[in-house]
Amino acid sequence: MAEFSLDLTEDQITMQKWLHDFSAEVIRPAAHEWDEREETPWPIIKQASEVGIYSVDFMAQQWFDDTGLGMMIAQEELFWGDAGIALSIMGTGLAAAAVSANGTPEQIGEFVPAMYGTPDDVKLAAFCSSEPDAGSDVGAMKTRAAYDEANDEWILNGTKTWATNGGIADWHVIVATVDPSLGTRGQASFVVPPGTKGLTQGQKFKKHGIRASHTAEVVLDDVHIPGGNLLGGREKLDGRLTRAREGLKSGVQPSMATFERTRPTVGAQAVGIARAAYEVALDYAKVREQFGRPIIENQGIAFKLADMKMKIDASRLLVWRAAWMARNGKEFTAAEGSQSKLFAGETAVWVTEQAIQILGGNGYTREYPVERMHRDAKIYTIFEGTSEIQRLVIARAISGTYIR
Ligand SMILES: Cc1cc2nc3c(=O)[nH]c(=O)nc-3n(C[C@H](O)[C@H](O)[C@H](O)COP(=O)(O)OP(=O)(O)OC[C@H]3O[C@@H](n4cnc5c(N)ncnc54)[C@H](O)[C@@H]3O)c2cc1C
Repeated sequence: MAEFSLDLTEDQITMQKWLHDFSAEVIRPAAHEWDEREETPWPIIKQASEVGIYSVDFMAQQWFDDTGLGMMIAQEELFWGDAGIALSIMGTGLAAAAVSANGTPEQIGEFVPAMYGTPDDVKLAAFCSSEPDAGSDVGAMKTRAAYDEANDEWILNGTKTWATNGGIADWHVIVATVDPSLGTRGQASFVVPPGTKGLTQGQKFKKHGIRASHTAEVVLDDVHIPGGNLLGGREKLDGRLTRAREGLKSGVQPSMATFERTRPTVGAQAVGIARAAYEVALDYAKVREQFGRPIIENQGIAFKLADMKMKIDASRLLVWRAAWMARNGKEFTAAEGSQSKLFAGETAVWVTEQAIQILGGNGYTREYPVERMHRDAKIYTIFEGTSEIQRLVIARAISGTYIR
């Protein structure tokens, strides 16, 4: 009767080793170069596609792993290699998750494989929800979607910002408002296919970290898309709008549904960064000598490493719990997905900073990777819901009170 187990299956162990080797041999050696170039690492995405990591089959296999842990293990290993490059490989997944969470089975079958393309013709996708005046406050979104009944088309207008892969992607999933008077309940998600007129890239941002991942504005100027590119279909949207107008509870919102599905995976990414920095610091502390002995022999250093290891393991357990719950249909009663992202994100920032401290002057230079890892880690308290918003979500869930 010992059902509880944290043992990985043989398939999971094989996959973990495969991704670890790809990270160690391909991603890690390229990390410094692409961080400095601040460009999407196309050759590495292509290589990931050729070996089958950047592929709809691999991603689907990990998402539908019975335990829920497959995707968590994959994220941790790739982000252990380098966060910027790994985000370029995994960025399409955010758009694919939006389609999977909100689309009909036909839409999922049509759009998701097309978003990855093939090794000979690699494609990218972007998920665009945030706007200059609508970051945490998703309900303030101004991008409009209007339906043209005569031509069975949707017409999108507005400006999205901070979109990972925005403008360079082939496919864009756009969250837009159909009825602004309904706030988030008046929003829906739309798929903009490659080459659609009116969609252009605005400013490309120069960033603090994850610099190998492209982040940009996406401008939508009279973008016409087929009626069938409304995720979930017209009937479902009309029903939802009617219920919202009647003031009834209308169920999960498009962008929220995406975030619920992706939060533990984002936590797993942060675990990968933290583990990478911890390993560098542990190795360094064993060989760096001051006062005639390795610095690890000082409790001041060894205790830091003990705390780093403990918090990384705790983060992983929270991530795995949330992923297991999501996969096994367990209801999140205390915002377990948010807990995992919040704790892992803040742990990554803290652990990478401790790693710099352990490496001293070397840690502060770009000769050693922990400086980059610290810059990369910081995004984990900001995107996919800031730390403050995660606390708000958890506090509301445990209290049943509308805390502001
Ligand atoms: C590198 C990068 C990649 C990104 N990728 C994407 C992407 O692919 N797609 C996408 O749609 N978006 C993306 N984002 C946007 C990201 O999700 C937002 O930046 C994030 O949601 C925060 O919004 P904001 O920047 O407008 O901050 P704001 O919402 O303006 O928040 C500013 C500060 O106020 C705090 N705050 C706000 N409201 C409250 C409150 N009620 N209570 C307490 N504190 C509060 C916040 O926690 C934060 O500390 C990305 C951002 C970056 C930087």
